[in-house]
Amino acid sequence: MIDASTRLCCLIGHPVSHSVSPQMHNAAFRALNLNYVYLAFDVREMDLEKAVNGLKAIGSPGFNVTIPHKIKIISFLDELDESAEKVGAVNTVVIKDGRARGYNTDVYGVEEALKGRNLTRTKPAMVIGAGGAAKAAAVALLDLGFRKLIIANRTIEKARELASRIRSMGCEAEYCGLDKAGDLAAECGIIINATPLGMHPKTGETPLRSSEIPEDSIILDMVYNPLKTRFLREAEKAGAEIVSGLEVLVYQGAKAFELWTGCEAPVDVMREAALKALGVIRDEG
Ligand code: NAP
Repeated sequence: MIDASTRLCCLIGHPVSHSVSPQMHNAAFRALNLNYVYLAFDVREMDLEKAVNGLKAIGSPGFNVTIPHKIKIISFLDELDESAEKVGAVNTVVIKDGRARGYNTDVYGVEEALKGRNLTRTKPAMVIGAGGAAKAAAVALLDLGFRKLIIANRTIEKARELASRIRSMGCEAEYCGLDKAGDLAAECGIIINATPLGMHPKTGETPLRSSEIPEDSIILDMVYNPLKTRFLREAEKAGAEIVSGLEVLVYQGAKAFELWTGCEAPVDVMREAALKALGVIRDEG
């Protein structure tokens, strides 16, 4: 029940209409009987500073940030957590004592999605893409103990920039164009797709085919709509272990939830709400 004590968390981005974060967070607030609500606001870049100041003024515990504001938002925040500093982008903001602190919970999302998997750290890890999700995936792989990364991207200059950023963190990094990704993938123990290739409605696209995917590798697709992308189907055909981007979505949300409320996130409730919102399972309620 919304009343005079309800606290407002939200998503700001442009567009935001396809987000499943409202369903995921509101289900979690309900499950823990917390007097919070989560809404989504379409905010243009020119209004970003006003939105941050407005949320501070009303005493919001914090908010999520999505495309295209994940980098621009940094200039309107008071401080950055190490995760956001390393990635160079923010997807979660916590407001405390009038100060806004930026985090990147996508890093945690990738780490949790890969936890408990049989990771072969002696082999290189490949990240396909060089945007925000790719940077978060690269930082997560380094945190997980991988010491050599291969960055494959459509625009080679951006792959080069990300590889050089990884080297500056003390790790080995190579880069290539998407056309060479298939050749270099053969030596990799894990491959993460951090491009929108295969995302609804272009579900026929894939960054790699089964013949290019090593049988003993782990394949994570950051894309979660559809749940089983063409890339994951190609990986299954190759005999690889697959991890859905839904896990990243749920755990990045869980971390944000914990930062705002101080309560342990009901991860299973959040996963079920995301699946319902994506139309994967029927809403019985
Ligand atoms: P971004 O910053 O815009 O970066 C997009 C990346 O994909 C760039 O490297 C871009 O290459 C590449 N790309 C875009 N269209 C392409 C195409 N048609 N062919 C080949 N490469 C293409 O976006 P982002 O935030 O990193 O997001 C990337 C994907 O990850 C999205 O699908 C997003 O929904 C997903 N994601 C999922 C989660 C999750 O929780 N599961 C979290 C974050 C993101 P260029 O450099 O050549 O432009």
